[in-house]
Amino acid sequence: MGEKAWQRNTLLVHAGTPQIDHIQPTALPIFPSTTYQSESAEKLDQLMAGDIPGFSYARHGNPNVQALVEAVKQLEGAETGIATASGMAAIDAALYATHVRPNDTVLVSQDVYGASLNLVGSIWTEADVKLIVADLTDLARFESLLQEHKPRSVLMETLSNPLLKVLDLPRIEKLVHQAGSQLIVDNTFTTPLMMQPLELGADIVVHSATKYFAGHGDAMGGVVLASNHYHDRLVQYVKLRGAVLGVFEAWLIHRGLRTLGVRFERQCQNAAQIAQSLLDAQVFSRVFYPLLPNHPTYSTAKHLLPPTLGGGVVTLDLGGSKDTVFRFLNELKLVASATTVGDIYTLCLYPVVASHRNQTPKERDAMGITDSMVRVSVGLEDPEDVVRDIIQAAKSAQQRDDSVIMQQD
Ligand code: PLP
Repeated sequence: MGEKAWQRNTLLVHAGTPQIDHIQPTALPIFPSTTYQSESAEKLDQLMAGDIPGFSYARHGNPNVQALVEAVKQLEGAETGIATASGMAAIDAALYATHVRPNDTVLVSQDVYGASLNLVGSIWTEADVKLIVADLTDLARFESLLQEHKPRSVLMETLSNPLLKVLDLPRIEKLVHQAGSQLIVDNTFTTPLMMQPLELGADIVVHSATKYFAGHGDAMGGVVLASNHYHDRLVQYVKLRGAVLGVFEAWLIHRGLRTLGVRFERQCQNAAQIAQSLLDAQVFSRVFYPLLPNHPTYSTAKHLLPPTLGGGVVTLDLGGSKDTVFRFLNELKLVASATTVGDIYTLCLYPVVASHRNQTPKERDAMGITDSMVRVSVGLEDPEDVVRDIIQAAKSAQQRDDSVIMQQD
């Protein structure tokens, strides 16, 4: 039976394992070589022309990088893909692949990772590319912006950061293609286990592999997946810009992928339990989780997401000020105050000083990000312990707010 016939978890554990002559270890060896000898000058000539498979120079290809790309291609249902040095390089490569040129417009969903907005807004705009930022939950306004500006490309995330809005990808895809634009979807927060954007009509999918794919907080990387239409430009991007994924990182991320199924399912279960417990505790002014009925995009989430997978992130509004959040972060004992998502450890990030630091208060306000919001990336600890830690830190931070108010009275 071919690999295509296997189901998702089987693919996670086995996909992308190359055949190696004479020996077949179950764990993929690491190939640190930067260059490869050829049997003959003729073979090297054919290899460099791309007429036969093989490896010549590590920036052009490496067995570990190829194994990772093969595995993710199968998971996302893609025809081609590349691996990059980081998630940011993956987004940059996707914009390049969609042929964004001077005088073009790129429309970016307002709810993306702050650095993705900055990439287009500061680097691509230097090449005379115009950035438009739009709320993709307002489809009527989005459609009129598409018709007015005819952007070359649209960039969005499946689950927004940090408010965890689920965008209506099938409807967005139709509007984007009606306007003659291309759709790039960042699937980092959802992983192919929750959503497969290419099957829902996206043109290119990107991941920060640093997150759930690697999973253990020890490797940085990105991947870009697409149809063959984008193959040549994607390959050109890594070969010429050189933002290739390192061999050791490729090996770690590929190994991480093997356990993504069990890790991600457990993280989703834990996140759902933590969100419900924190809501019941009534310590926070708001608790955001896509599968909680009070979430603004709950009906889209019910329709688009698998019933038990709402993602591994919970966002909380503590109420109070920046000082309250600082005290909360300093009071955490088990949960680490750290950036990133998707690790096995539960991590808490303060968007105002980290992911959305470069957005102005007005821009953050438009995105719905308050000064007292924190994002929790749920790990694999017992959820009761995480809840206990978060509640004690929140109560302690809020109590001191109360005592300051009483002293002022
Ligand atoms: N996309 C999303 C949704 C992210 O959260 C991040 C990083 O936090 C990135 C892309 C960038 O990834 P990296 O840090 O691997 O460059």
